[in-house]
Amino acid sequence: MATPAKEKKDFRNYDQGEIIAAVKEHYRKMRTRQTLDYVKRMKVKYLTYDKSMHIWDAMEKLNDLIDVSDPDITLPNVHHLVQSAEAMREEGRPDWMQLVGLIHDLGKVMYLWGSDDDGTSQAEQWGLVGDIFVVGAKFPETCVYPEFNRLNSDMQDERYNTDLGVYEEGCGLDNLHLAWGHDEYLYQVLKNHPDNKIPEAGMVMLRYHSFYPWHTGNSYGQFLTEKDKQYKVWVIDFNKYDLYTKREETFNPDKIKAYYQPIIEKYLGPEKINW
Ligand code: FE
Ligand code: FE
Repeated sequence: MATPAKEKKDFRNYDQGEIIAAVKEHYRKMRTRQTLDYVKRMKVKYLTYDKSMHIWDAMEKLNDLIDVSDPDITLPNVHHLVQSAEAMREEGRPDWMQLVGLIHDLGKVMYLWGSDDDGTSQAEQWGLVGDIFVVGAKFPETCVYPEFNRLNSDMQDERYNTDLGVYEEGCGLDNLHLAWGHDEYLYQVLKNHPDNKIPEAGMVMLRYHSFYPWHTGNSYGQFLTEKDKQYKVWVIDFNKYDLYTKREETFNPDKIKAYYQPIIEKYLGPEKINW
């Protein structure tokens, strides 16, 4: 049964008593431990594409994961995915976008082969979920809990703690290293998938949906190109379904599968995905 929809102001409210401690601790670890060196190591370690799994199996695996960084929901992740997709479907958004809604958090399956040390496990999720930011350049005040920015060792390193850091002005979003997590992981996995036909807009939504300091905080102007303006339009359009469709309600799995399976095949083909 559905509970009444929450008001907009009630979402991403990081000051609710019970959840504040866990969410805040998550962000303290994430901001402290996600250095440029860490992100580069994780890309080498996890982008191996040697584990084959179907989209539906990945969805099922997410049933066992509760996102510690999300103050808005305590239901398993798969509900959130279906709700995002169904909201797009109700509004008649394109089928590829509905698919993007359905799969956008599937990168969290990384926890299946993750570790506490990497922050990619059920117990330690600071390398898996949460708002992401650029590593290798100064962390902006638009990060959630900006007081944690100074805890990162890169912010004591003059190669990394300036506005440009290791990057060039106007280099474009696609050339930045972002904090490691489920966005980049799924993006790279699908980019590597031979049958992937998801349009560019969809791939951008997948890759940057957690990049709040950019898409909502309007930081990082020093890196942006003309193309990135279009990226922001796409990601903001996606964001309302990611954020404001979260309700504690259930759905019929058979009906969901019957509707989305042909869309999965249209854009990802019949084969399993290599993770
Ligand atoms: Fe996400
Ligand atoms: Fe999401």
